[in-house]
Amino acid sequence: MKMSRLYMPTLREVPADAEIPSHKLLLRAGMIRKLVSGVYSYLPLGFRVIEKIEKIVREEMNKAGSQEVLMSAIQPKELWEESGRWADFGPEMFRLKDRNEREFCLGPTHEEIFTDLIRNELKSYKQLPLNIYQVQTKYRDEKRPRFGVMRSREFIMKDAYSFDKDVSGMNESYMDMWRAYEKAFTRCNLNFRVVEGDSGAMGDGDSHEFTAMSSVGESEIAYCKDCDYAATDEKAKVVYSIDNKEENLEIEEIHTPGIKTIENLVEFFGIDASNFVKTLLVRISDEVIAVLIPGDRELNHTKLVNHFKVPEHELEMLDEEGVKNVTGAEVGFAGPIDLKQDIKILMDSRVKKMKNFIIGANKTDYHIKNVNIDDISAEEVEDLLLVKENDECPKCGSGLLIERGIEVGNIFQLGTKYSDGLDATFLDENGKSSKFWMGSYGIGITRTMAAIIEQYHDDKGIIWPLSVAPYHVIITVVNAKKDDQMELGEKLYNQLIDKGIEVLIDDRKERAGVKFTDAELIGIPIRITVGRDAKESVVEFSVRGKEDKIKINSNEIFEKVQ
Ligand code: ATP
Ligand code: MG
Ligand code: MG
Ligand code: MG
Repeated sequence: MKMSRLYMPTLREVPADAEIPSHKLLLRAGMIRKLVSGVYSYLPLGFRVIEKIEKIVREEMNKAGSQEVLMSAIQPKELWEESGRWADFGPEMFRLKDRNEREFCLGPTHEEIFTDLIRNELKSYKQLPLNIYQVQTKYRDEKRPRFGVMRSREFIMKDAYSFDKDVSGMNESYMDMWRAYEKAFTRCNLNFRVVEGDSGAMGDGDSHEFTAMSSVGESEIAYCKDCDYAATDEKAKVVYSIDNKEENLEIEEIHTPGIKTIENLVEFFGIDASNFVKTLLVRISDEVIAVLIPGDRELNHTKLVNHFKVPEHELEMLDEEGVKNVTGAEVGFAGPIDLKQDIKILMDSRVKKMKNFIIGANKTDYHIKNVNIDDISAEEVEDLLLVKENDECPKCGSGLLIERGIEVGNIFQLGTKYSDGLDATFLDENGKSSKFWMGSYGIGITRTMAAIIEQYHDDKGIIWPLSVAPYHVIITVVNAKKDDQMELGEKLYNQLIDKGIEVLIDDRKERAGVKFTDAELIGIPIRITVGRDAKESVVEFSVRGKEDKIKINSNEIFEKVQ
């Protein structure tokens, strides 16, 4: 590509709303432009990077046996009602109506749509396992779109869905995707960690996040100094999940009767739950409702008891029967839930007004009666429950370290959540109707671009790893008015193109300083400078981000570049 023809509107000034390096550099390098808040256009150089990342991801998905499809971004409300997520998704979902008042959303993710795709036509266990994916535009009306394409409202995601006949099949598909993700992010040259995640609105099974380490990342991860434990801070707080089989305490119903939807919940408790992701109230008996707070329950228990300074003689440890007979509310520690919301419920809801407040975990002898929670603020509770550096590792007991990162990918075991909701069945070996065991797997393509820049830049600009660079080589013709320089530059340009190398030639009639500054800003890895020595067929060769510059004969260029 000749830079005299390239649409690359570079900026010398940093736009005021750009806070982090990747956002600033993508704008300055003319790779993206903002349309409205959280919505971006991808310009030629930026789009090439996106295509490179997509290509890597596609290759690894295909190698893992996944098949590419393309689904619509417009999704009918009915499918989301079948899974129960039309209400659960909340204001992050872009909703719209057609001319006949029929309701739709712009897909924030596609579990329902993929389940619907196969449910009437994939009939037999013989057709399983199946893994299908797409690279597609997603829409989420983020509360705080920021950092450019890192957290935008329209973004490109690779999303995949696996269908298996049983749980072990699902686990295998999950591990295949895990390995494919490791390969893809390694090929993008990212420094990343795989951490246990919180499944949030997706499902109740295991999930893992692929986190690119970066100080500007919005995820905080806790990992162990000594063993391989690593989790997002949310997950680290959610050590116990709601599994009544594991607990001594019998939970009679997982959801409060009559409270099936967010609206019911809001009505019942009179709270503002406009941002709800998941119901987190568990009815234990007619009178006892557990408010679930994430975290290591024993740790939280001790922290809270110490904080409340409940006098010893007023404490009453409750056994199973005792808990059942309490009239009031329990503050427990479990559940894949949103900490801020839980605290909000705890502080704002009717639960607070109940008598006989008990705190503790839903486990025998972990309940303490008569605790007054009026004298603690939401911030204090939140602080008490945060995972901190040097907290005990839940796996080996050693100390935890905390580091920031960017969630670039996420894999989920969905179990039968969607095949139950959408009644998607197949016939198993015995001719019996059976539900699909599913997984879903996302990679933020555009966010990955930003994450790579966070890890590869200096004060002059981007330093693209070769695998995702928009072009491999940039030939800077120092003075485009000099025939010998232009001729040699173009000769090299054509030679490299013939060899299949992606080359930019800066043939613009600009000052040399401008050209060098731009070359550094846009971060092309291999740089060839054609200047005064062009007469002798000598050029300067350097690598972006490295100091050394060597003079070589232009004949040797191809060997160097390979
Ligand atoms: P986050 O925690 O950052 O809000 P998420 O957990 O909601 O992300 P997922 O539902 O797991 O996101 O989606 C899969 C992937 O899509 C994420 O791992 C991330 O790389 C990407 N992604 C999610 N939201 C955005 C966004 N608003 N802008 C850009 N990429 C996004
Ligand atoms: Mg999100
Ligand atoms: Mg997340
Ligand atoms: Mg996620």
